[in-house]
Amino acid sequence: MTEAHRTGVLIVGGGPVGMLLAGELGLHGVRTTLIETLTETHDEPRAGTLHARTAQSLLRRGYLAEPAPGERDPDETVLVPFHFGGMSALTIEAPAIEGPPIVGQSQAAVERFLEARARDRGVDIRRGHEGVALRADADAARVTVRHGDDEYPIRADYVVGCDGARSMVRREAGIPSTSHPATFAGILGLVRLLDPASCPNGWVHTDQGWMLINVNPLGQSRLLTHDFTHPLPGRDAPLDLAELQETTARIVGREVPMDQPGFLGRFSDFCRIADRYRAGRVLLAGDAAHVHSPLGGQGLNLGLQDAFNLGWKLAMVATGSAPDSLLDTYHTERHPVGERVIANTRAQAALMRPGPEQDPLRDLVRDLLSFDEPNRYVADLISGQSVAYRPAAPGSSTLDGHFLPNVPLETTEGPRTVAGLLHAARPVLLVNGDGDLAEAARKWQDRVDVVRLRTSEPLGAAATLCRPDGYVAFTAATRSGLEDGLTTWFGPA
Ligand SMILES: Cc1cc2nc3c(=O)[nH]c(=O)nc-3n(C[C@H](O)[C@H](O)[C@H](O)COP(=O)(O)OP(=O)(O)OC[C@H]3O[C@@H](n4cnc5c(N)ncnc54)[C@H](O)[C@@H]3O)c2cc1C
Repeated sequence: MTEAHRTGVLIVGGGPVGMLLAGELGLHGVRTTLIETLTETHDEPRAGTLHARTAQSLLRRGYLAEPAPGERDPDETVLVPFHFGGMSALTIEAPAIEGPPIVGQSQAAVERFLEARARDRGVDIRRGHEGVALRADADAARVTVRHGDDEYPIRADYVVGCDGARSMVRREAGIPSTSHPATFAGILGLVRLLDPASCPNGWVHTDQGWMLINVNPLGQSRLLTHDFTHPLPGRDAPLDLAELQETTARIVGREVPMDQPGFLGRFSDFCRIADRYRAGRVLLAGDAAHVHSPLGGQGLNLGLQDAFNLGWKLAMVATGSAPDSLLDTYHTERHPVGERVIANTRAQAALMRPGPEQDPLRDLVRDLLSFDEPNRYVADLISGQSVAYRPAAPGSSTLDGHFLPNVPLETTEGPRTVAGLLHAARPVLLVNGDGDLAEAARKWQDRVDVVRLRTSEPLGAAATLCRPDGYVAFTAATRSGLEDGLTTWFGPA
């Protein structure tokens, strides 16, 4: 056993969520160590969709480009067709000033990009290092790390489990979960189709189940089976091309010739959510906190949003810039979001039960989704755009708790956008003019960037505190209201 390594935050697991969180902490200069079992990123096919709210968050760090000034009208929206429960009946809509509503990108590419950002910011990333045990008390959290034949301890002020579905951190911290059993068995395969021209493309539904087939006549096609007739074998049960071929033929109703499997893996709609995202010095994010089926392509997005929510809070608490209670809001804000995603994936799986007795229900849902309001409701759920952290209290601004749109702002320093002001991941107070409120806010300037607006349009509030994750913490109309808000969120001046 070698000598203990000491760090401020230890992240266990360097998938996309761990890497994003590491970069967020690095931006704030928090001493951060990340351990990851794998020695390099694997190119296995997993998530491929960054939904609208994730794209909007990435825009606020400068990871995606903003539309050029004046290029997009603030009221203009962009529409993208999507699916719900296998039905191509949904239209996702997002403001054009936020960039594209959906960004197609392989998970491996996202992971490599985020790892490079985290390394640039000085995070100590240790690949080939596996966390094997955890002990946490009031003073510190300690993780035993295995590296080759060696084991060594890391002592950290906080440990974040970003270590995926079978999280060692969740288990060792004794955090209980709530789960729902699988109702279908899925196989994800990358194969060469021998007759791509005759193969159905997109979602296929028969009385035997559902398939998603992304035909690529020039290379590997992606097949996902959703088999409601067979019990789910264990995730690690042996899997070969013959099983994929047999399942595909049964669901599609005829042979689909294929060979050269590049990847084969199992999935299902088993769901689990940790009952607590925080236990003292231990926190959970991403698949370590929640798992569900890939329906709607939401898992990666949900995890990245956990990291955006947790990153700035943990940074401020770890550096003494905010009270410890700020960290509790991570659970209270993100756990309900996880529950809502799990519920909508289960609703989709229920809708997909293949028998004809479900057809009238499917027809009804398809009809409902052809109307603007229900479509908007479901599309905002799937794309993460309906997330808000505090329902507006009576008398408060309708902005409170909501994601601040990327509106153009006329500031005393010149034209800015909301997204541009959030690149440094610091809280931003948008305050009208140079009067009493701006003067009061100066006392928090070590923790909060104060930006003076030439006019309260288009926000409509005298002072608006935008959190680093883009959500409005509070709005204030008076000096005392502003001071109360700043004290609650960031401690005394
Ligand atoms: C087959 C498949 C298809 C999917 N399709 C989609 C999709 O279409 N859309 C979507 O949004 N999501 C999809 N998902 C889900 C998505 O891939 C996950 O939600 C996402 O990977 C979660 O990221 P994460 O960083 O939380 O966990 P992971 O990506 O699982 O990363 C966890 C990391 O922790 C490491 N680790 C684990 N234990 C330890 C330890 N003890 N010590 C050190 N390191 C450790 C692992 O090596 C791993 O790199 C799919 C998942 C699968 C399996």
